[in-house]
Amino acid sequence: MSTINLKYHPDIESAYAAIRKYELETTSKYILYYREAGFNQKDLDNLDKKKIWWDNHIPFDGIPYCLLGSEVLDCHHGPDRHVNDKKKLVAQKAEMEEEHLYTKNSKKRFLVQSTKKMDCKSQIILKAIVKFPDFKVDGLDSIYRRKKCSANLRAANFNHVKKDLRIVLFLPDANSHENHLIGEFSGYSQPLDSLVKEHIRELVFDGVRKVSEMKRHLNIFVKRELSLDIPLTNRRFHPNERDIRNHMYLTLTKTRFSKNDQQNLQCLVRKWEAEYTLDTFFLRLG
Ligand SMILES: [Zn+2]
Repeated sequence: MSTINLKYHPDIESAYAAIRKYELETTSKYILYYREAGFNQKDLDNLDKKKIWWDNHIPFDGIPYCLLGSEVLDCHHGPDRHVNDKKKLVAQKAEMEEEHLYTKNSKKRFLVQSTKKMDCKSQIILKAIVKFPDFKVDGLDSIYRRKKCSANLRAANFNHVKKDLRIVLFLPDANSHENHLIGEFSGYSQPLDSLVKEHIRELVFDGVRKVSEMKRHLNIFVKRELSLDIPLTNRRFHPNERDIRNHMYLTLTKTRFSKNDQQNLQCLVRKWEAEYTLDTFFLRLG
């Protein structure tokens, strides 16, 4: 693995911020492939069963470390990790249609979207490691010296020794993408940004129901609040009317059906009732 794009971060938040910056600069989007259990580990007291490493995941700098866990993100045009689930869904649907022959004549079509997946191999890799700076190999590196330092570290039982948690972030080369457009043109296929989604939700709660009005609000939000000057072709920050309508609808239906949102809505209604004492509010929960 190339280590040119390797950077150490003090915590996960800082690493995620760097990933977001990278995505914006390269008009790319990465989604979670997998996260090992230890990646989020905060408790650094029970490391005694962990293996001591020197240079298997990071360039050698003389300091031994333990690996807590990794997280890997795929380019959103990456391999289809749910291909079997989708096949199962299609098979189930076919079975149902066999059982209810009359539905065969129905105009409804069951579509499983898979067009976004292009088998691109570009990945972002994060590793959570704990370094032990007090057990650094002094002077010339040798197997003997590494073994001696490891033995000292084990003898100290990892207790009362200095531990530095680091998130190692490997960002891929901007040219690592395969089978799809990159750069500004790839903005057309970008999924909606989580902050934009959140803003749509808030505006729906504020009563915005018109797509055109929502679009105007979002443009202002991206420019002013996020301070981003993103080309209009980038759908991550400039969703088209259909994207906007879909997310407004999602917010409204979720409000009706999910427990959390029902509670939120109840709070909101109580707030309205306090503010607008002359109006009555009726909330029907499904
Ligand atoms: Zn890609």
